[in-house]
Amino acid sequence: MVVEASRESHEIQNLVIIGSGPAGYTAAIYAARANLSPLLITGFQKGGIQGGQLMTTTYVENFPGFPNGVMGPELMDLLKAQALRWGTKLLEVDAEKINLQTRPFVIEANKGLIKTNAVILATGANAKRLHLPNEKLFWSKGISACAICDGATPQFHNEELAVAGGGDSACEEAIYLTKYGSFVHLIVRSKQFRASAAMIDRVIRNPQIKVHWESEIMDVEGDEWLRAVKLKNKVKNDITTLSVKGLFYAIGHKPNSELVKGQIELNNNNYILTKPGRPETSLEGVFAAGDVADSEWRQGITAAGSGCKAALAAERWLNQNSLIKFFPKENIEPEKADLNIIIEESTEKNYSSNALWQKGSYALRKLYHESKNPLFVIYSSQNCGPCHVLKPQLKRVIEELNGKAQGVEIDIEIDKEIAQQAGVNGTPTVQLFNQKKLFQQWKGVKQRSEFSTAIKTLLDKEIS
Ligand SMILES: Cc1cc2nc3c(=O)[nH]c(=O)nc-3n(C[C@H](O)[C@H](O)[C@H](O)COP(=O)(O)OP(=O)(O)OC[C@H]3O[C@@H](n4cnc5c(N)ncnc54)[C@H](O)[C@@H]3O)c2cc1C
Repeated sequence: MVVEASRESHEIQNLVIIGSGPAGYTAAIYAARANLSPLLITGFQKGGIQGGQLMTTTYVENFPGFPNGVMGPELMDLLKAQALRWGTKLLEVDAEKINLQTRPFVIEANKGLIKTNAVILATGANAKRLHLPNEKLFWSKGISACAICDGATPQFHNEELAVAGGGDSACEEAIYLTKYGSFVHLIVRSKQFRASAAMIDRVIRNPQIKVHWESEIMDVEGDEWLRAVKLKNKVKNDITTLSVKGLFYAIGHKPNSELVKGQIELNNNNYILTKPGRPETSLEGVFAAGDVADSEWRQGITAAGSGCKAALAAERWLNQNSLIKFFPKENIEPEKADLNIIIEESTEKNYSSNALWQKGSYALRKLYHESKNPLFVIYSSQNCGPCHVLKPQLKRVIEELNGKAQGVEIDIEIDKEIAQQAGVNGTPTVQLFNQKKLFQQWKGVKQRSEFSTAIKTLLDKEIS
């Protein structure tokens, strides 16, 4: 159930989970099944989008249970649906502040103060990027921040690849990628590595790796897929072009731990310190899971596993301290999850002039010309993580309007011409039309309240 901060402020929660990556959702599934009615603060902008890092990738081929792979955003939709099915309360905002000096702990989120006896910090980490001019064009189309995750992609097989970075991870990734690529260029900004002697030795001795010292990547180029990296040698001051099909960033991660800095113990790189192999932090009642507490493994499945441990440990701790409140479910077996992930394209046969949410160019044309209602059009694409976040938000706004507005989803890869005509150059884009006139446009993920306010203004205008 999606909840509001103002309503959740009235009672003391058993457990608040901060973060909606694999660690957060897994913790929520366990805690909800244990009847703790956990509140999960999904995150909105502060530490990456709702759903976490896997929302920014395409195929995940190594998460158990998906023999044919699964798209990152789809995997996160499934974890979310599972957490909701068992009774997790979702608060779709950022946790802005947390006070761990007081009991119960107090979390500030969306102008509400949420009190809780226990907390699981699952705020993840963000892979650092080079922010090259053309980086966005080739993200997941040759550029990756994770060699272990993406190295086996067919496009990289027997091709020349590049790795940026000079630490242990960069060396390890370069060695790992020689399994797939024909040759690996390791691009190091300075004139030495920041890696262990053993790792350096393995790189230097590997005939399939060439180290480019004191070199900086200026930009990337390609067509549908990355083809080359522009490299500047800082000593000679010349620019060369390296023909590579893959560029892997290994320039470090930034854990999202600012929220608790100074309140619990962090290591030198700002990762949350937990008891070895366990989820307990330096403060009782505060647990950590996933990448924010793991500078080493950083995988979807390790994050999920640690989320499970954190939930079980939190439940045990609440119990031992007589703080636990149980919220038994009405039905032992809750209703099946509403996956609602793929909706059918509307055609002449299944189109309905009253449906609140439809898909495709047929529905758009019909509603645009014939409906008297304001019309939201969302332009999305299958691989766009933010679109997966935005669509349910917009659907909720429309549902709450009880038929006073309708929505249509346009996949810009299927309906390219429509997207072009509408001047859409990125997803998600939302346009609000009234009587065939464009009333407002939004780009990127926005809070639900932005859409509600716009539609309210529009409807008020009509009345006056
Ligand atoms: C491009 C890419 C591809 C990858 N591919 C794979 C793969 O194929 N297989 C694999 O196993 N792993 C892969 N990984 C690694 C994997 O994504 C991570 O290890 C995993 O997502 C970590 O999960 P997490 O739950 O710890 O954190 P994250 O996924 O980072 O999620 C953190 C969550 O915390 C939220 N958050 C942050 N700050 C706040 C705040 N203040 N308030 C509320 N919420 C907050 C964020 O919004 C987010 O929802 C990939 C990573 C990247 C970047």
